[in-house]
Amino acid sequence: MTKRGAKGASGTAATKRSAGAATRRSAGAATKRSAGTSTKRGSGASAKRSAKTAAKGSAVRTAKRPAKRAPKTTPLTEYNAKRDFTRTVEPAGKVPKPRGKTLHFVIQKHAASHLHYDFRLELDGVMKSWAVPKGPSLDPAVRRLAMEVEDHPIAYNTFEGTIPQGEYGGGTVMLWDRGTYEADDDGGAASLRSGYEKGELRFVMHGKRLRGGFVLTRRRRPGRPQWLLIKRRDAYADPERDVTTEETTSIATRRTMEQIASGRRVWHSDR
Ligand code: MN
Repeated sequence: MTKRGAKGASGTAATKRSAGAATRRSAGAATKRSAGTSTKRGSGASAKRSAKTAAKGSAVRTAKRPAKRAPKTTPLTEYNAKRDFTRTVEPAGKVPKPRGKTLHFVIQKHAASHLHYDFRLELDGVMKSWAVPKGPSLDPAVRRLAMEVEDHPIAYNTFEGTIPQGEYGGGTVMLWDRGTYEADDDGGAASLRSGYEKGELRFVMHGKRLRGGFVLTRRRRPGRPQWLLIKRRDAYADPERDVTTEETTSIATRRTMEQIASGRRVWHSDR
């Protein structure tokens, strides 16, 4: 039952929304009752019960009407659809309310069916994500293939552990680097957004292992977008170093892949 959790969650949200809409539409007693409730947090249990009943009534009436809008596709629909959250300890996909202007990145080394590095940049409440088979390079002459994958939740940034075999992405995940990043032109999120859309994303990374300018360039090909990840020429470029060979432990726990694979789970979802 892969999708039960995700469907259940979105179903609940949809019911709440339509219940609210129905309440707003009716000017009668139902409105008064529910308006009463929203200000009445912590008052008697009987008031709560009657509010629930009123809400239920509205929801039932709404359900009988034909749907006016197609179900909303949230930014993390694909992420949630691919995972069974009763089997994996990865976080369920939710988009948080916008916070500060600081944008975060994370790179996860992922020993799935094929080893790769998941390169994730925060933008508009999700982590834009690319699977980079060879990982990042500090050599500006090297272009690393970066296959765009589904957006991930920001909560994924603290995930390190093991996804069960047989589940989507089954294998060991290590937090390989993390930090903040920004547009390279002081244009903020607007600049990053337009760069992403144009297929030429230029940014500066402030991580432990990756620093300085990088560019992601989208290749012109049909199908799921493929990009190239390239280090820009600056003080942090270093053609002599092979950063993925040198750095083989977790930035968060200093564990090796083997230790993560055999160790206890260190990450717990907030559900
Ligand atoms: Mn992956």
